[in-house]
Amino acid sequence: MSDPRTLSILWRGPLSGCNYACGYCPFAKRRDSRATLAADRAALERFERWVAARARRVAILFTPWGEALIRRYYRETITRLSHLPQVETVAIQTNLSGATGWLADCDTRRVALWATFHPGETDRARFVARIRELAALGVRHSVGVVALRSHFDAIERLRAELPTRTYLWVNAEESLQGCYAPAEIERLVAVDPLFELNNREYASLGRACAAGHTAISVRGDGEARRCHFIDAPIGNIYDPDFDSRLKPAPCTRATCNCHIGYRHLVDLGMDGLFGAGRTERFAAAPRRDAALACIAAFEGGG
Ligand code: SF4
Ligand code: SF4
Repeated sequence: MSDPRTLSILWRGPLSGCNYACGYCPFAKRRDSRATLAADRAALERFERWVAARARRVAILFTPWGEALIRRYYRETITRLSHLPQVETVAIQTNLSGATGWLADCDTRRVALWATFHPGETDRARFVARIRELAALGVRHSVGVVALRSHFDAIERLRAELPTRTYLWVNAEESLQGCYAPAEIERLVAVDPLFELNNREYASLGRACAAGHTAISVRGDGEARRCHFIDAPIGNIYDPDFDSRLKPAPCTRATCNCHIGYRHLVDLGMDGLFGAGRTERFAAAPRRDAALACIAAFEGGG
């Protein structure tokens, strides 16, 4: 479980446009209207003011529906947030299609990127060059891919070309989660020693989860949910008594199968695998046996 003094926040505003066209994504090549972008910007800036006014430590992961770093107001907001002492980490999920120079103005002790590689949408050499720029700037990052069967070769080539210190995580493709053949699993584990953590659903109903206590998911209007996967609001962060809504509670969903959710399952004890990189999903020394030990602990508990 995360450090209970830190509130982990997933934030997602109305922006949903993206400059890429991944076949498996509903946001592919969607364009936001000017009104949507204005509303998204206002929501983001309100959230920034809320963070700045609070004393409690926060770890923020922006999880936009689409691609946000192509918008200057995200780059500027992240830069400012990275200089706030109460911000442990400010990270964002991105396709890394934009330039990286703006990160030089961030506090690199706090800023981080969760970058995803989309074969077919970008050239691998260009993507790897961007990652090398991050490394040169000293910006913490992880790189992720989705294990479509047609992408296995591209995933292995990417691993070979990335800097050794860059952690490459592999997500199971949704319809294949738990269905890969043993030889496929071995291939994917050779790329990501923690792959098996993602290649399953966790029977989470009734199990202790820090989401709703030390972790929340926040929409643009400030409405908070315990996580992205349970739709019942728990309050609004802009209400003065919001913190009183944060309490431990068992999960009310049958299963949890997404990293940004199950990582908060108490019995899984996953945060030890990621340490300081938990917000941006960076593992400094990923080990298959440690991942399997977490799975066994969860299955043996409860
Ligand atoms: S880069 Fe991400 S948001 Fe954009 S189309 Fe691909 S999966 Fe969707
Ligand atoms: S286990 Fe997953 S679905 Fe359940 S509360 Fe935690 S994050 Fe949400």
